[in-house]
Amino acid sequence: MTSSLAKPLRVLILGGTTDANQLAAAMAGDPRFDAVLSYAGRTENPKRPPIAWRVGGFGGIEGLIGYLRTEKIARVVDATHPFAAQMSAHAIAACAAAAVPLLALERAGWQRQPGDHWTEVDDFAAAAEALGVAPRRVFLGIGRTQLAPFAGHPQHFYLVRLVDPPRGPLPLEAEVIIGRGPYDLAGDRAVLTQHRIDIMVTRDAGGDSASAKIDAARELGLPVIMVRRPFIPAREKVESVAEVLRWLGHDKTPAERGV
Ligand code: NAP
Repeated sequence: MTSSLAKPLRVLILGGTTDANQLAAAMAGDPRFDAVLSYAGRTENPKRPPIAWRVGGFGGIEGLIGYLRTEKIARVVDATHPFAAQMSAHAIAACAAAAVPLLALERAGWQRQPGDHWTEVDDFAAAAEALGVAPRRVFLGIGRTQLAPFAGHPQHFYLVRLVDPPRGPLPLEAEVIIGRGPYDLAGDRAVLTQHRIDIMVTRDAGGDSASAKIDAARELGLPVIMVRRPFIPAREKVESVAEVLRWLGHDKTPAERGV
C-alpha cells in the first residue's frame, strides 16, 4: 500500500501518440506519480496534456542521459510511434547508461485478414517502387517526413493527409487534406471514394485509432502497400495503459480505487 507521505514516482513519458495521451490521462491528478510527457515538437499545436509536458529533442543519447539525471527520472515509458525508431533506440541506450528502468508501450501491428490485398515492404522507397509504372490514384496514409521517395514516381496522383497545413512546398506534387485522428470508417470510406483512390500506401502503425483507413480499404477491396515497422532493439514492452500502470507498481487509477 502506498503511504500518503511516499514521494511520487518521477516518470518520463516519450509521447507523440494517442497511447501516450491515454497514459497521461490515466496518471493525471494521481498523487503517486510526478510524470512529464515529452513531445518531439513536430506538430504545431500538440494536444495539451493533463500532466506536465516539455517539447523538443533531448540532444541525442547523451542529452537524454543528462535529462534523466537532472530531472531525477525514476522510470521511462516509451510511448512513441512504432516508426520513431531513433527515439526508441536512444531511450534504450540512455536508460541503460543511467540505470533507469524502461518500458515500451507499443500497440500491436495490424493483421492481414482473408481477402486483403496487401503488399508488405520494408521501407517507403520500396513502397513507391511497388506502385508500379502505370499511373494510379494513391492515398498516402503516412507522415510528412516519409513523402520524399514518392517524388521519383510522378506519374501517380497522390492524396496526402497531414496533421498541419504544409508551411512550404511538399517534396512531391500532391493534393493535401488536413486532419487529426482518430478517424472513422464512414469518413475514410468517403475520402477514398470521393478522390477515386485505387491504391493505399500506409505504415503498420497498428492500433484502433488509425485503423479506419485500413478498414475502409478492406471494405472497398482496395490494394494496400503496407510498410513494415522499422527495427528497434529488444526491450520490455506492453500493449496497454493498464499494463504500464502495473509495471509502475500501481494497477488502478484513483478513479478505479474510488479515491
Ligand atoms: P525519430 O526519428 O525516432 O526521432 C528523431 C529525433 O526526434 C530523436 O532523436 C529526438 O531528438 C526527437 N524526438 C523524437 N520523439 C521525441 C519525443 N517524444 N520527445 C522528445 N524528442 C523526441 O522520431 P520521428 O519519427 O521523427 O517522430 C517524432 C515524433 O512524432 C515522435 O514523438 C513520435 O511518437 C511522433 N510520431 C511519429 C510518427 C512516424 O511515423 N514516425 C507518426 C506519428 C507520430 P534528440 O535526438 O535530439 O533527442
